[in-house]
Amino acid sequence: MSSKVNVEEIFGQNVFTIAKMRERLPKNVYNEVVNVIEHGGTLSKESADVVANAMKNWAVENGATHFTHWFQPLTGITAEKHDSFVTNAESDGHMITSFSGKELIKGEPDASSFPSGGLRATFEARGYTTWDITSPAFLKESGAGVTLCIPTAFCSYTGEALDKKTPLLRSMEAVNKQALRIIRLFGNDRSTKVNVSVGPEQEYFLVDWDKSMKREDLIFTGRTLFGAMPPKGQEMEDHYFGVIRERVGEFMKDLNTELWKLGVPDKTQHNEVAPGQHELAPIYETANIAVDHNQIIMETMKRVAEHHHMRCLLHEKPFAGVNGSGKHDNWSLCTDDGINLLDPGDTPNKNIQFLFILSCILKAVDTHADLLRQSAADVGNDHRLGANEAPPAIISVFLGEQLEDVVRQLIETGEAKRSKRGGKLRTGVSTLPQFEKDATDRNRTSPFAFTGNKFEFRMVGSSDSMASSNTTLNTIVAEAFCEAADVLENAEDFDIAVHDLMKEYLTKHQRIIFNGDGYSDEWVEEAARRGLPNIKSTIEAADTLTTDKAVELFETFGVYNKTELESRKEIIFENYAKTINIEALTMIDMASKQIIPAVMKYAGKLASYVNEIKAAGADEAALLSELKEITTELSDMKNALDELKEVEQRARKIKDERELAYFYKDSVRPVMDALRAPADRLEMLVDKNDWPFPTYADLLFEG
Ligand code: ADP
Ligand code: MG
Repeated sequence: MSSKVNVEEIFGQNVFTIAKMRERLPKNVYNEVVNVIEHGGTLSKESADVVANAMKNWAVENGATHFTHWFQPLTGITAEKHDSFVTNAESDGHMITSFSGKELIKGEPDASSFPSGGLRATFEARGYTTWDITSPAFLKESGAGVTLCIPTAFCSYTGEALDKKTPLLRSMEAVNKQALRIIRLFGNDRSTKVNVSVGPEQEYFLVDWDKSMKREDLIFTGRTLFGAMPPKGQEMEDHYFGVIRERVGEFMKDLNTELWKLGVPDKTQHNEVAPGQHELAPIYETANIAVDHNQIIMETMKRVAEHHHMRCLLHEKPFAGVNGSGKHDNWSLCTDDGINLLDPGDTPNKNIQFLFILSCILKAVDTHADLLRQSAADVGNDHRLGANEAPPAIISVFLGEQLEDVVRQLIETGEAKRSKRGGKLRTGVSTLPQFEKDATDRNRTSPFAFTGNKFEFRMVGSSDSMASSNTTLNTIVAEAFCEAADVLENAEDFDIAVHDLMKEYLTKHQRIIFNGDGYSDEWVEEAARRGLPNIKSTIEAADTLTTDKAVELFETFGVYNKTELESRKEIIFENYAKTINIEALTMIDMASKQIIPAVMKYAGKLASYVNEIKAAGADEAALLSELKEITTELSDMKNALDELKEVEQRARKIKDERELAYFYKDSVRPVMDALRAPADRLEMLVDKNDWPFPTYADLLFEG
């Protein structure tokens, strides 16, 4: 048994928290920092120097040798460039370390190799990182030693965002401003800020490290490109919430410890539906911090897994035939004095402010369903959305019985007189306590579900940054609030105006509400009748970024300008083509150097057995038919392999990014499927000892 952990003692140990600043900074500097965190603005140069020095002293005391501006370029993961604190050796050989306010606040990484979708080429090659003072600095312990990480935004010389954090911060300001207008109208003049709260639920797979290293597909692409289903998959559902295996438990314990030290408030952990799949959820935090922390969670999962001789797979679909992984984005709006604007209370029908905000959100989601879908799109996620395991690719909102009933009353009569109650849960066992049921059951198939006092956006992929989904959500809701506030601020009779607007929004946008089974074919047809978009792939979704509607929305609220949107679209195409290209090349490699040679060897063995059996005078028919089956599959495989090589060559000639992405989707992917199918059938025909790499059974059940 490993050692005990005292969570109170270690929590935030590696974070330069507000509390540490209070201890270490002169009072006036501390006050200035807190003021900037709470109300925006910039630190004076003098104060920045003081903060930097205190931060460095704390970091060095804790073993840090380097610092880095930690940022989130458009690759979706984080980037860092380490500089040591070493500055000057004195004449006696004594080393002086330093860290200035300037180094804290601004960095200039050699940014030319980060994707910019042409942004930097058009303007100026420089990229700058700037300190996000609202997200605390932290110490990362790794093989490289201890590094002070400073969360930063990454922009071009002319201020265009080259990262995911900048637009997120802009969208948080936009929704704050518009939400404040709404609550002021409803008589709240105490709250000074509306924060976006985000709680991500992160799914992942763990597999044995040595086994994973024997599979090129896992090494290069993070998912399996070949692999037949084992006799047992997830059909028994015995893994879900099942007892956590010892090896995984040890991993989780270390992961928790590392995350707590980094101030990440992770809270729940359990096994997921698929074998080898697990989930971790931290307690919700302010959006930008939650997004940073989610990046830390993903990085730490990979690192800690390696220490436990496992590989953590964050890909959305590591294994065909078992569930993939997602990341539920729980989202709500809370004031700085603790009021959750999405809390309906016990009697939602009487909570007019809540109902009004709900109506605005429904309007936002319906108006911009395409953009919301886009915000969760990524290559890996194309395998999940619409595949009856994750939400469908069609955006709809689940409200639950109680709220749907209230909304229906509002649409029909303009008034909601009653709310359905949950009633008592009766277990039929006298010794179990009776408790109030929630008034609403859950619906696991809905992409955007109201879950009590928050919305849960369930489309996001497991490997994706949560920045995009929250940026879009914040912005579309800011727009709806703004349009509503424009009307209400000029209304002669506020109550009547609220009533009329609510009825108008709900009537016009009720098509977005759907409480039924999102996996059914009827829903796909019904959604089409309602005119809801059904955007099937990442690259189709990319086009939604530059419609007139999208440009107007994002420009009005200062979240993205048109150039930034266009560059993001370019990057999506580029990234899509690159990803499928790597997958195709990996398949070509595995098929030609591993699978086909192994099958040929095995077929050769069978052929000599056929001859031996025949010579012995026994019946060789069964063996012969097995051999024929194998050689038929083998020739199918060989044909598909040749075709894949050929289309891959053709792709190289395509220069236009968009055309190339579509070529990969429509012409390369189907050939990859055609290559996989006979290979997976062969896996079932060939002796396990002759198969060239670990199988699904090896990875999922014996890992
Ligand atoms: P559920 O079981 O409904 O998914 P959990 O309590 O497990 O709910 O919460 C899932 C995630 O949602 C957690 O990260 C949690 O902190 C977060 N969460 C809870 N309340 C809110 C809220 N008001 N706003 C944003 N996230 C929230
Ligand atoms: Mg949940």
